[in-house]
Amino acid sequence: MLVELAIGDAYGAQFEFADPELVEQHNHLQYIAVRDDAISPGSYTDDTQQTIAIAELLVEGTEWTPENIAGKLVEVYHRDPRKGYSRRVKIALNASANGAEFLKNIDPNSDTSGAAMRACPLGIIHDLPELVERVTIQAKVSHNTPLGIQASLATALATHYCIYEIGELSDLGEFIVSQVPGDWNVAYDEFVGQKGWMSVRAALTVLSKHDNLADMLKACIAFTGDVDTVATIALGAASNTARIEKNLPDCLYQNLESSNYGLEYLQALNERWLELKVVPNL
Ligand SMILES: [Mg+2]
Repeated sequence: MLVELAIGDAYGAQFEFADPELVEQHNHLQYIAVRDDAISPGSYTDDTQQTIAIAELLVEGTEWTPENIAGKLVEVYHRDPRKGYSRRVKIALNASANGAEFLKNIDPNSDTSGAAMRACPLGIIHDLPELVERVTIQAKVSHNTPLGIQASLATALATHYCIYEIGELSDLGEFIVSQVPGDWNVAYDEFVGQKGWMSVRAALTVLSKHDNLADMLKACIAFTGDVDTVATIALGAASNTARIEKNLPDCLYQNLESSNYGLEYLQALNERWLELKVVPNL
């Protein structure tokens, strides 16, 4: 999951808020520099970095407290500073050396997509009340609003639905609506702005309409707007289910960044994360 999610993020980052004409011209599943101000092709952004933070917290078995979660967000940023964070979060990260300082420095009154874009790894929690509790605690660290928390819950539940093969992807929206308030079962077909629910609704729409990762990734980008986040959430969920064909072109794997926290790191962390999957006793 972590590799496909990072591919979605890295590919999408070139198209984030890009001109729709550029999107249409270049959305052909290769990393290319579409805009001068984007991160270098093949590099991922804040979506994947925050997802790494949550996955590390889970595999390390860290006590699930706001301070520990904030501390991990600070740690992953300072060891490998990245583009893509909102101004609000970036200022707080730069001003903080640990979790307690981040909690003091961040204004968590936000309903943008930060808490949703990092929530995929939480889908591996088998017990739904525990999943809801843990997602909510981590969302409140930076997005302590009903919409911010609900978007994060919907993301984690989408991944959960795929990991545990709960049903057909066409029924995913209904499942999420049964757990979290929101129009999660209504198709989204507009420009994706910065609100978390927009990225999640777009990702859920893509998940319900396609049966392979390549078509999904192109469809995520075609919305235009905050499409790295749409692709992060959609591929994060979809890569976990056998119902979806894994047909992303090899070049997207081979040219994903090979930095200290690049492809090999993501593969290794993903192995450890998968060990958290609950296999029912037969
Ligand atoms: Mg991003």
